[in-house]
Amino acid sequence: MNIIDGKKIADEIKSEIAKEVKEMLDNNTKAPHLAAIIVGDDPASQTYVANKEKACHEVGFISSVYKYPSTITEKELLDTIDFINNDDDIDGLIVQQPLPKHISVDKVIEKINYTKDVDGFHPINFGKMASNLPAFIAATPLGILELLKRAGVETEGKHCVVLGRSHIVGSPMSILLARNTNPGNCTVSLCHSKTKNLKEISAQADILIVAMGKLEYVKADMVKEGAVVIDVGLHRVPSNETKSGFRLKGDVKYDEVSKKCSYITPVPGGVGPMTITALLMNTLKAAKKEI
Ligand code: NAP
Repeated sequence: MNIIDGKKIADEIKSEIAKEVKEMLDNNTKAPHLAAIIVGDDPASQTYVANKEKACHEVGFISSVYKYPSTITEKELLDTIDFINNDDDIDGLIVQQPLPKHISVDKVIEKINYTKDVDGFHPINFGKMASNLPAFIAATPLGILELLKRAGVETEGKHCVVLGRSHIVGSPMSILLARNTNPGNCTVSLCHSKTKNLKEISAQADILIVAMGKLEYVKADMVKEGAVVIDVGLHRVPSNETKSGFRLKGDVKYDEVSKKCSYITPVPGGVGPMTITALLMNTLKAAKKEI
């Protein structure tokens, strides 16, 4: 069984990005600039944005954070996005979710200029991705593709089962792995809460991607011998064995499932570190005007 070390792969990619930024600066090109908008004081959102800022600094990117109280109106937020869309110094823009209920997430996403949409959520990017055209791909699926590629997992002709059809993970993942690309060329089954015989379908997977948000849902009897298992789930579980008072766990019951796998991503240290790194990859693409 091979453990796919997401932290190590993320560090490799970050040093490659840092090298490119250095070359850009040596050629008198400005460093890539990522802007983040955060609304309200949700502690998890504050942590995510702080981690994104830290990752930007690690690779030499410029990072700006626009913070607004949850009383900001939808119009004010859309105007801010417009302002950033028109600022040539800023290459990539993300709006941290969740947003307050009075603000339409769809309107916000559609307002972002798709050439700066490094989260890959804009319908133009989603459509281009599905059409196999150059596009910003959402960070988590992009990170998973990179993990599969760099871990040397063969995907062509394999049956890939994706558990979960969210717009940010499961759905794009299923499209990406069905495309005629490498990684890709899988036969894909996309499962969700209305799927019948989910266990049986899951147990047929050569590659199983789990993004359900259900703590340790996938047990050994749902996994085929020799399968590749990618666990996207992230749960904080109380623990008195750690200083922080919690431990991170996934959607997969790691101890029993890992014994059957050819490859598996651990939680923490698998998909998680790749998500922010994939955002950096997209921001570099935006700065190089590749999309
Ligand atoms: P989500 O939007 O809640 O979607 C969950 C999906 O799982 C839905 O499609 C849902 O089906 C399906 N589902 C839930 N319970 C099910 C069940 N019992 N049987 C079959 N299908 C079921 O979740 P998400 O945003 O994709 O995130 C999934 C997990 O990944 C969460 O734990 C999240 O924290 C984690 N995550 C981690 C990262 C990272 O960087 N590590 C990034 C993103 C997300 P329906 O559509 O029918 O409701």
